[in-house]
Amino acid sequence: VSPENPCISRICVIGAGYVGGPTAAVLALHNPSVRVEVLDKDQGRITRWNSGHLPIHEPGLNDIVRLTRDGALTNDPAAGSNLISRRDPNLFFTSDTAGSIGAADMILLAVNTPTKKSGVGAGRATNMTALDGAVKDVALYAKAGAVIVEKSTVPCGTAQRIRQTLGSLRPGVSFEILSNPEFLSEGTAIKDLLNPDRVIIGSAESSSGQVAADLLANLYTAWIPRNQILQINAWSSELSKLVANAMLAQRISSINSISAICEATGANVNEVAKSIGLDARIGPQFLKAGIGFGGSCFRKDIASLTYLAESLGLDEVAEYWSQVNSLNVSQRRRFARRILRRYNENLAGKKIAMLGFAFKKNTGDARESPAVDVIKNLLDEQPAEIAIFDPYCNEEDILREISNCGPADDASTPSRVKIYSDPYQACADANAVLVINDCDQFRNTMREPRMDSAIAAASKLDRTFSDECISELGALSLISERGSQSL
Ligand code: NAD
Repeated sequence: VSPENPCISRICVIGAGYVGGPTAAVLALHNPSVRVEVLDKDQGRITRWNSGHLPIHEPGLNDIVRLTRDGALTNDPAAGSNLISRRDPNLFFTSDTAGSIGAADMILLAVNTPTKKSGVGAGRATNMTALDGAVKDVALYAKAGAVIVEKSTVPCGTAQRIRQTLGSLRPGVSFEILSNPEFLSEGTAIKDLLNPDRVIIGSAESSSGQVAADLLANLYTAWIPRNQILQINAWSSELSKLVANAMLAQRISSINSISAICEATGANVNEVAKSIGLDARIGPQFLKAGIGFGGSCFRKDIASLTYLAESLGLDEVAEYWSQVNSLNVSQRRRFARRILRRYNENLAGKKIAMLGFAFKKNTGDARESPAVDVIKNLLDEQPAEIAIFDPYCNEEDILREISNCGPADDASTPSRVKIYSDPYQACADANAVLVINDCDQFRNTMREPRMDSAIAAASKLDRTFSDECISELGALSLISERGSQSL
């Protein structure tokens, strides 16, 4: 893209995941004259994006993809009738690396950036393998002047690192690197993309950096007011993403720490949360106690922030943020311990049903679900049968996440975890039902008369307890226990 003739007509989004897919769909929706291609090395994922069964579940996503990818939105796609809207397709999913990157004016990097598995301190460096691979492909195929955008959550200084990599692999060709972190939450991705609180664009503080940032801002102004787009320097932008996640997770750990005090004293954590949330300086969001945060982002972004503080020699700062993750782990353990205590530390012959496995409602993302730690804690102690029902998680993902649960020498672990496609069957003859996330369906499930017979020997279901405990970010509580009122 030349500064004299700035125009974006083709975008390539590298990474067709939870961020890349929905982001590309919304960009395509609001910029009908721009061709948006989503590129992934995982051919299976691309095939599903091109099918009627998208690889991720997000409310509202199907309709946008049907309109932008297929060019038509119908009430009855099978019959092609009741047409609501028609337009030229401008969203494409592909695994043609050279072709897609080579034709793009702007390339969004939306690949996975997990933490490294080991490290010295409490922090963890980011595993940049996927991002480095994508940058190498950009160096190989991108046309001169293409604007490169970090959508992935990355360590501070990554824009500079990408610039250096491109400089050494494509000497003499200049690329502008922008940071444009994504703040969507899974389960509300489309709503968040359509109505973001803000869009952050970080760039080099040069005139060409500003031109590139303006080009990206222009794409967003198709649906987002200009005053909600904040243009800052790239370091601030990269750091803002880590800090936003760390602060949100910190609130969850803060209220969970209070829930431990409440349980020990007779105070009610929901009443405490309501009381403090009415203070305008504190506010009510992210103040629901539960079994802790999960998902692929909070833990790793705090580990990355902690690592940054450690590497800067800021030990107290590192210690402060690492406690947010530590508290989260202990909250999950505390939840499992309550169940074990209830059964005198012996789950032999007991069936524990779990409604929900995903880390929060309205997503099928099983990564780092609190359910995994709960199962681990339960199976580590005593044999128990775990029965799982989740409306959106697929079996393969659940099995992958729990593959390390249970003592290493216990060959029966996989057979002691069963996955059901019907919630009532999962709960049939259960000794306890754990509601792991706040999926709306579970409220109804628990109110169904069928549930009484499903939990055959339950003398009393404490439903008020379950409603009160439904939490914002995954995580509930033991709802019902055979032969007893509640925990
Ligand atoms: P994801 O694992 O769902 O998707 C990443 C995709 O990138 C995968 O499909 C993978 O095959 C593909 N990929 C990796 N290397 C590639 C390459 N060289 N070429 C082509 N494709 C490649 O990850 P995600 O959840 O979408 O997260 C992506 C980034 O966005 C991460 O940095 C994450 O921290 C950040 N983020 C995630 C969320 C979220 O809620 N998931 C929210 C905000 C930000």
